[in-house]
Amino acid sequence: MNEYDSNRIFDLTKKINYEPTKDLNEANCYILNTCHIREKATDKVYHDIGRLKKNFRNKPKPIVLIAGCVAQAEGNILLKNEKYIDAVLGPQSYHQINKTILKLEKKKSPINITEFDVIEKFDSLNSLKNTDNKVSSFLTIQEGCDKFCKFCVVPYTRGAEYSRSMKELVLETNQLVENGAKEIILLGQNVNAYNFEKSKLSDLILEISKIKDLKRIRYTTSHPKDFTRDLIDAHKNCEKLMPLIHLPVQSGSNKILEAMNRKHTVEEYLEILKKLIKVKPEIKFSSDFIIGYPGETNEDFKNTVKLLNQVGFINSYSFMFSPRPGTPAFDLPRLDHAEAKNRLIEFQLIAEDIKNSYRKKLINKTVNVLFENKMKTGDRYFGRDEHFNSVIVESDDNLVGTIRNVKIINGNQNTLYGEITSNLKQTNCAA
Ligand code: SF4
Repeated sequence: MNEYDSNRIFDLTKKINYEPTKDLNEANCYILNTCHIREKATDKVYHDIGRLKKNFRNKPKPIVLIAGCVAQAEGNILLKNEKYIDAVLGPQSYHQINKTILKLEKKKSPINITEFDVIEKFDSLNSLKNTDNKVSSFLTIQEGCDKFCKFCVVPYTRGAEYSRSMKELVLETNQLVENGAKEIILLGQNVNAYNFEKSKLSDLILEISKIKDLKRIRYTTSHPKDFTRDLIDAHKNCEKLMPLIHLPVQSGSNKILEAMNRKHTVEEYLEILKKLIKVKPEIKFSSDFIIGYPGETNEDFKNTVKLLNQVGFINSYSFMFSPRPGTPAFDLPRLDHAEAKNRLIEFQLIAEDIKNSYRKKLINKTVNVLFENKMKTGDRYFGRDEHFNSVIVESDDNLVGTIRNVKIINGNQNTLYGEITSNLKQTNCAA
């Protein structure tokens, strides 16, 4: 979502004649768009500012703005501790960036804008054409979260759930497709909680799938509680909807899920997966896991491992519990660090085995790849298959923006290597 926000910040600042630069040393305005989901995010801000100060030691100081969730959560502290920072802007206030920069051009006195202006933000952004021109483009459709999982900062940094209007989203999708997008990744902290005047995520998917030149649709990140029948059916009815679903489960123990306030059980989670496989057998899953949550016993941990093996997630993103200030879980008694770390290592080794054996089975198979860009070295092209695996091929033809059949020859943990076998006839949405 920060990537989407950063692109929109570029679109905004163009209106006051600022252009992005790749050379940090020539910037006269420096915007650091931050994420607060993991520990040490604030340390990274101070570290980056330190580097900036060094680079600009013998030059006029640039305007320095901190945007995003660190600004939202710790804006006042940042302004107090680091005088080099001129302004902090929360993720729901970045539409005010031009006003802020123009003010700072005249006079550098600290500015803190961290209100939750989400309606006003999207009202301002809607009038501005999205100029992102990637083959695979992000589109924020929903922000914020009302679930209040006990470990999570999102409800405090992004605010309550808010869904953008279907009309605006169809318009913005058309803009992105006109710019060259073949794939749209619909984004939301709780993307399947999308609900605008009774239109749900499934309605939006079916609507944008009618855009002829849009070939692929994905969405992330979902919550099991909002995985309704209509969304499951969208996977049956819309071939443009890709068969990889990222559905965080966090733990395989009902006791821990309850302690986390996740609002679902392991059984309910598995039931959703079963229904999805029933409508589309080729669907695969990826998930997020928190290992070592306060109160997690060895038996709870074993249940998480059991779930991992049972589902065979093709990608598992696992982290040791990271206490975030301001969340209810912050004050809970923590597990012994070494014990939690051992569990994480054990978990990750099993997850890696599952991933490796899945990827081995892909060797000599043919997959459909949407090519996103030419690589820096040689005539090599990078793309992704339907299950979001990274694939690289060599080709004399420009493959960017095309979907091709690729035979997988070999691969490693992160990338598959293959050769083009043919063009792919693109299927359309049946609904
Ligand atoms: S559902 Fe996701 S975004 Fe919302 S509080 Fe839980 S983890 Fe955070």
